[in-house]
Amino acid sequence: MNQFEKIATEGRSEGLYADGIDTMQVNVGLRCNQACAHCHLSASPESKEIMSWPVMEKVLQIAESIAPGTVDITGGAPELNPHLKGFIKGLSTLDIRSQVRTNLTALLEAGNEDLIGFFKDHRVKLVGSLPCYLEENVRAQRGDGVYEQSIEAVRRLNFVGYGIDPDLQLNFVYNPGAAFLPGDQADLEGAYKKELKDRFGVSFTHLLTITNMPLGRFGEKLEKESRLDKYVKLLSDSFNPETVPGLMCRRQISIGWDGTLYDCDFNLALNMVMNHGAPDHIDKWNLNDVVGRRIVTGAHCFGCTAGNGSSCAGELVAEPQ
Ligand code: SF4
Ligand code: SF4
Repeated sequence: MNQFEKIATEGRSEGLYADGIDTMQVNVGLRCNQACAHCHLSASPESKEIMSWPVMEKVLQIAESIAPGTVDITGGAPELNPHLKGFIKGLSTLDIRSQVRTNLTALLEAGNEDLIGFFKDHRVKLVGSLPCYLEENVRAQRGDGVYEQSIEAVRRLNFVGYGIDPDLQLNFVYNPGAAFLPGDQADLEGAYKKELKDRFGVSFTHLLTITNMPLGRFGEKLEKESRLDKYVKLLSDSFNPETVPGLMCRRQISIGWDGTLYDCDFNLALNMVMNHGAPDHIDKWNLNDVVGRRIVTGAHCFGCTAGNGSSCAGELVAEPQ
């Protein structure tokens, strides 16, 4: 048992265990039109990893057998996978709702002109990354021009009803601009909504706060600046036991672009594949060995249990208002 397991389970069991599958997260490739400073996957336009159609077909078969509430499609920029539409159509045929994690700017890439309409037609939920409502902070994390393009993409999404019609969800992701924990999600959501409405007249549904993981490009940056140990200590010192029941890995699986199975996208970044008797690839899929599996954990897991907790769906425990 590692230190995280000891603390998270208070020594009551030999590890952390999954408890079903509500969400299948599918990473359809690491190629991205951006190369953000905080990216835990070190994705960039040079990344070659892309999920092929045969792998997607197998993922669709697994989705049919599990019937998860949501298939959460991520990357990289999922929009750069040429099979994205076919995959979403396949899920729609199975009556499974898709969610796409978009960096917003990829929606403006040449060839994607009809994508927003396609998402609307298939009632795809969207999660857009907008790490701050202030231009200078977005530029520092994501590069020049990204802020303006992101706002333009939000305008186009609002125009067809995203972020306005309750059935066309457009959630935004906030992550801190440096090595500190996110603030209260509800407070930040209020500030985002006001600022974006006042400045640009744009709307969104909810804000999700996500803690920066000390991995990938962000981890490398901290290491270079000799701040990695301090940040890892901040995460473990901020352990909140109330976050443990809601840890996303307990009700979710993550499938990599090549069909490798992980407990979550962070384990994917670290190449820590499913283990402890669970299959490590979709070709060996066996539902019984996955639903109640022991989760592969490490020191990075303190990033999910710090403060109000963190997951791909935002904070895990709300602060009393
Ligand atoms: S954080 Fe998102 S948008 Fe930025 S490089 Fe990584 S995958 Fe691309
Ligand atoms: S990093 Fe992954 S495995 Fe670890 S606690 Fe978070 S979701 Fe679970």
